[in-house]
Amino acid sequence: MDKFPAVLVTRDDATKQQSVALTAIAESELMDGDVTVAVEWSTINYKDGLAITGKSPVVRRFPMVPGIDFAGTVTASAHPDFAPGDAVILDGWGVGETHMGGYAGRARVKGDWLIKRPAAISARSAMAVGTAGYTAMLAVMALEKHGLTPARGPVVVTGAAGGVGSVAIAVLAKLGWHVIAVTGRTSEADYLKGLGAAEILERAELAGAPKPLAKERWAAGVDSVGSTTLANVLSMTRYGGAVAACGLAGGMDLPSSVAPFILRGVALLGIDSVMAPKALREAAWARIVADLDLAKLEAMTSEIALADVIGTAPDILAGKVRGRIVVKVA
Ligand code: NDP
Repeated sequence: MDKFPAVLVTRDDATKQQSVALTAIAESELMDGDVTVAVEWSTINYKDGLAITGKSPVVRRFPMVPGIDFAGTVTASAHPDFAPGDAVILDGWGVGETHMGGYAGRARVKGDWLIKRPAAISARSAMAVGTAGYTAMLAVMALEKHGLTPARGPVVVTGAAGGVGSVAIAVLAKLGWHVIAVTGRTSEADYLKGLGAAEILERAELAGAPKPLAKERWAAGVDSVGSTTLANVLSMTRYGGAVAACGLAGGMDLPSSVAPFILRGVALLGIDSVMAPKALREAAWARIVADLDLAKLEAMTSEIALADVIGTAPDILAGKVRGRIVVKVA
C-alpha cells in the first residue's frame, strides 16, 4: 500500500517517554473515521508545540500524528455531507491529541468534525488563519454578543505578536476598534501597527501583582496569556466591559479577585475552539472571510515544510514565533 509522509509521536512503554520523528505511514495505520482527506496544509499552534515536545500531556493516544488542524480535499467519504473533491477544514475535536491529525499526507476523521472550506479562502490561507485565528474570531464574536462595540472604548489584545493575538488585532482594527496591543517583544511594534494596533503596551506593565481594581483603561479584551496578565487586564477593564479568555501562554492560574465582576459588572467570557458546535464554527469562518484582510493575514504568516515541524515546535513555546506558521504538507 502507498505510504505518505507523517510526523509520528510514539511512547516507550517502559520509560513513558515520548519521542517524535518524521516517517512514512499507510492509510491502514490511520484511525477510524467516515471521511478520508488528502491533507494539503496544516499549521503550528501553541498546543502543537506542547504535543510535539511533550511539555504537557496533550497527546493521549500512541502512536499519534499531531497537528490540531488541517485543510485538504476529500478522497473518500461515507458521510452524507461530504464527497470526493470537497475542500474541507478541520480545527480541534481532539485531532492531534486523541485522534490522528494534520501532520500527515492523509487524515481519516469523522465527517461531523469537518466544515466545508469557504470558496473565498484558499487552503493555505485557511491554515494561515488556523485554529489560532479561528479562536481569535470566536473571541471577537463573544465580545460582540456581549453587546460591546468600538464606541464603548479601546480593546486590549495580549500575546499580541502571537497567532491568536495577531489575528485578533487585524480583525478588531478592521472592525473599527482602537486596539491596544500588549507584547513582550516591543521590537515587533512596527509589525503590530501594520496589523492595525493603535497603541503598544509593554508586557511588563501587566506583569505586577494585580490590584483588585485599577484605573479603567479599556472596554474589552482578548487574552491569550492568562495568569497575572489576565488578572491585570480584568482589573483595568471599564465598567460593563468584558474580556474573552482564550489562552494560557503565561500560565494557567488566575490570581484575580471578584472585584471587577461585582463592582464594575465586568464579564469574563470563556472561549473554547476544540468542542465548539458546528454552527458556531461556520459562523466564525464566514466572519473570517468577511472581516480579515488577506494582505494582513499574509503579512503575519511564514511557511515551513512538514520536515521542519519538529524543529520549530519548541520555538512557539518559547514565544519566539511571530504571527502564524503554515505547514506545507503536500
Ligand atoms: P503563540 O505562541 O503564537 O502566542 C502566544 C503569545 O503570548 C506569544 O507570542 C507572546 O506574545 C505571549 N507570551 C508567550 N509567553 C508568555 C509569557 N510567559 N507571559 C506573557 N506572555 C507570553 O500561541 P497561539 O497564539 O497559538 O496560542 C495562544 C494561546 O491561546 C495558547 O495558550 C493556546 O493554548 C491558546 N489557544 C486556545 C484555544 C482555545 O480553544 N481556547 C485555541 C487556540 C489557542 P508577545 O511576544 O507579543 O508578548
